[in-house]
Amino acid sequence: MRISIKIKFSIFLAILLLFTVFILSLLVLRGIRSNQVEQYERYLERQTETANVYFMQTILAESNKSSQIFLNTKGVEFARQLELLTGQSVVLYDRDGAVVSKKPASGGSDRMKRILEYSLEGKTAYLVEQDELYYLTPLSVENGQVGVIQFYYSLKEDNDFYNRIRQTCISIGAIIFLLSFILAYFYFDSFANGIIKLERMVDRVREGHYDISFLKRKDEIGRLSVGIRDMSRQIMATMNEMVGEQEKLTLAVNKLSLLDQQQKQFIGNVTHEFKTPLTSIRAYVDLLEMYPDDNQLMETAKKIIKSETERLYEMVDKVLQLSALEKYDFEYHPEIIDTKLIIESVLQSLSGKMNKFGLELETELTEAYISADKDSLVIILVNLLDNAIKYNKVNGKVLVKNYIRDSYVFIEISDTGIGIPKEAADRIFDPFYTVDKNRSRQSGGAGLGLSLVKRYTERQGGKITLVQSDSSGTSFGISFPVVHSI
Ligand code: ADP
Repeated sequence: MRISIKIKFSIFLAILLLFTVFILSLLVLRGIRSNQVEQYERYLERQTETANVYFMQTILAESNKSSQIFLNTKGVEFARQLELLTGQSVVLYDRDGAVVSKKPASGGSDRMKRILEYSLEGKTAYLVEQDELYYLTPLSVENGQVGVIQFYYSLKEDNDFYNRIRQTCISIGAIIFLLSFILAYFYFDSFANGIIKLERMVDRVREGHYDISFLKRKDEIGRLSVGIRDMSRQIMATMNEMVGEQEKLTLAVNKLSLLDQQQKQFIGNVTHEFKTPLTSIRAYVDLLEMYPDDNQLMETAKKIIKSETERLYEMVDKVLQLSALEKYDFEYHPEIIDTKLIIESVLQSLSGKMNKFGLELETELTEAYISADKDSLVIILVNLLDNAIKYNKVNGKVLVKNYIRDSYVFIEISDTGIGIPKEAADRIFDPFYTVDKNRSRQSGGAGLGLSLVKRYTERQGGKITLVQSDSSGTSFGISFPVVHSI
């Protein structure tokens, strides 16, 4: 069973007070007892003196009798007169210890006999039996002891008084014990409540609730509660830090494993994409070795090897650019560029290709300045326009426009081409992703253009979106913060 601290303190205080009362009572009762003894001893001594003087006077009056004979003959009478004089019950013994007065009501016990023998030797002694005191003292004349006087003294009054006082002490002790327990219980109530509250605070912290309030008290308990509150806050902060660190670590680990996965996939793709043109080149080289005089084969081989080499070169170039962008060693030289001018210049360089595909070009261009790296912006525009040409339909259209809206310069490149299926829209910016492998390969693509465009755009604080794409065509949009003055 668990006894509360309140009860323990109360019992302790009550017992302490009870003990004090006990010691005090003991001292008082002892004082009373020794005072009573002193008083009756003095009284009986005086009675003894009176009896001896009276005996002497009586003996003198009876001059013809020896004191021994007097006692034996007139002992009863003398004892009666002595009783009248002293007011005590008296028994007289002669020199041999024989009763010469009326017989005592009680007596004859061994203890009594021993005391009588003791008194016959000239000494005073007394025996106390409950409320009765038998005081035996020598009866003497000038030439020595003639007998023994026994006074009977009642201790009833003394004992009653003593017992009353003892009873009072016991009652006082009990009352003090009870009262002190009750008072201490209430006094320690607030103290114990404080400790109970502290215990609850500690329990809450142990259960993981660190947001606890302190006790509004000015004593040590209040200060302790503030200490516990502060400690708990400290634990909470450390835990939060740890959780934060753990989350960061998990994120970093996830990111690393994702990067690792992406890298493996990237290398796999690179190997695969590089293999295709190389296989083709090697096949034609083998054929030429086998048929060195075949002129037509020579012509075809030259064409194929040239186009595959170009494709390979372009791929290597893009892969290098992509890995440079990944490794953050991208050299960025921003300058203020008029998007209208740069678009027109890129369109100019691609006009031959457009004509080759019989495409019609439409532009809606306005002066709009951005801060960007010129070479990167050219790569972005060339790739987007190249796609608009490559994935267009015969006699299709390419529309290029730019405009300023909400502090951004938007460039939109639209075509009337084959469009991008909805399910592929999310993946077109992934390296090596192509919707239709054959078509991409025919047009010399390996799925690297859009991923390069996205990285270049974002590295410069821009954004690229697939604005819309369906069977009527595709529209890509890029945006950069506008620069107003030049
Ligand atoms: P590629 O070099 O093969 O063109 P990109 O990364 O530039 O690779 O494009 C990824 C894929 O997105 C292409 O294979 C193509 O299927 C699709 N795509 C890109 N631009 C267009 C477009 N304007 N119209 C239709 N499909 C497009």
